[in-house]
Amino acid sequence: MSRFDVDFFVIGGGSGGVRAARVAAEHGARVAIAEADRWGGTCVIRGCVPKKLLVYASEVGRMLEDARGQGWTIGDAHHDWPALIAAKDKEIARLSQGYVDRLRKAGAEVIAGRARLGDAHTVEVEGRTLTAANVLVATGGRARRPSSDWITSDEAFHLAALPRRIAIMGGGYIAVEFAHIFAGLGARVTLIHRDELVLRGFDPDVRKAVTGNLTSHGIDFICCTELVRRGNHVIAGGREIEIDVAMAAIGRDPVTAELGLAELGVRLDGRGAIEVDEWSRSSVAHIHAVGDVTGRVALTPVAIREGHAVADTLFGNRPTPIHHHLIPTAVFAQPPAAAIGLTEPVACAAGHDVVVYRARFRPMRYALSGRDEQVVIKVIVDRMTDRVLGVHMVGIDAPEIIQTIAIAVTMGATKADLDRTFALHPTTAEELVLLR
Ligand code: FAD
Ligand code: NDP
Repeated sequence: MSRFDVDFFVIGGGSGGVRAARVAAEHGARVAIAEADRWGGTCVIRGCVPKKLLVYASEVGRMLEDARGQGWTIGDAHHDWPALIAAKDKEIARLSQGYVDRLRKAGAEVIAGRARLGDAHTVEVEGRTLTAANVLVATGGRARRPSSDWITSDEAFHLAALPRRIAIMGGGYIAVEFAHIFAGLGARVTLIHRDELVLRGFDPDVRKAVTGNLTSHGIDFICCTELVRRGNHVIAGGREIEIDVAMAAIGRDPVTAELGLAELGVRLDGRGAIEVDEWSRSSVAHIHAVGDVTGRVALTPVAIREGHAVADTLFGNRPTPIHHHLIPTAVFAQPPAAAIGLTEPVACAAGHDVVVYRARFRPMRYALSGRDEQVVIKVIVDRMTDRVLGVHMVGIDAPEIIQTIAIAVTMGATKADLDRTFALHPTTAEELVLLR
């Protein structure tokens, strides 16, 4: 009989924590998991899922415009924001309940409450003290907010009405995605970014294409400037713009304060993220950390993979280290951008002699509507080995296409492999095998 109350205590019921708790319980471990807010965490409650539901809704206006060129007569269309938010909330409640049900079914004890560590083997939650052989910290991240008169993506999902005029500060994933959501639903959007191009870290061709598309989508893009907020005005780029709502999308910080980590000697980096090794082990034995709280790659599939690996390593007799390369990613703009592998500058800096293949074309989808929107595809190949190092795309269905080509890239596909693949005609993705 173990001297601990549980084998595994997980703090945080988000993507990483829920996966780790469920898999550990399925491996036969005695598991407890605590969640301070709603089950499912950022991705399910205030991230990927509600965001994608709003993206779908906001794309309809474009489809209606295109349909006119295809012979449809469409009367005045109106959008009902409160109806969208209510429908979205209902779906999120359903999904959140599904997470609790699956945890219980796997045999985990599910505790609603904010947890903190007493010592390396003790967790305090809701007035209880439980001892645990192993602890996993999966507390995620929190949006940075310049001051209380700025909303963040958290509140954007619950606005009572669609803002007539909104300023968004930032040029990363959230700023770009929400600029398109709000503009697609009819708001006047001003995106203010301190750099000339959005999406730092993406390939320069992708950054240029997405930045150019902002204006085509009716988004007022003000670049290369800090901004000053004065009541319901923002001053940026020599202009004073009246707004109803100001939204900050300037990054997220790991949630590590008030967990008692520093007192235990758990090493944090300069941003407050928990430092871990490839096994997601912290500097203190028996305390692991996964997901956004570790400041590695802040994406849901990464948090899930890390959580699964910890459970397999500790309880499944399957030691699984995690390496963060070849992670596909997408920005759900309109049109979206997606990528897998190395960008051109990173490939060159890593010493590869690269061959770059590019295609730029208007997809057939817009032939009749006349929409002036280009697909951009870029494939980066190592000249010596012929291996595909990176695939980058902006255009309709880019996330779906990149997810599929990611399998080939992960398997080590060469340019010759792409060349010997038959095209599937007529598609947008066929360009990937027709690049010469
Ligand atoms: P979280 O999912 O944040 O879970 C942490 C949980 O811990 C939270 O529920 C929190 O309440 C709880 N918690 C914190 N402290 C305590 C405590 N002391 N006790 C108990 N519980 C605690 N990623 C994608 O891959 N694709 C996307 O399209 C995408 N879109 C996004 C859109 C937005 C607007 C945002 C904000 C993020 C998006 N992400 C997306 C990122 C993704 O949501 C995160 O990478 C992912 O949720 C991280 O999972 P996690 O388990 O590390 O943390
Ligand atoms: P990002 O790190 O993606 O972008 C932050 C942006 O804010 C950057 O453009 C940055 O500029 C700018 N910025 C940072 N600090 C300041 C400042 N003080 N003043 C002005 N601008 C500033 O963060 P997000 O908040 O957009 O998203 C957080 C993370 O969540 C993402 O990195 C991603 O991992 C995840 N996410 C994933 C999504 C997806 O997979 N589709 C969607 C949404 C979020 P600069 O570039 O100059 O540094």
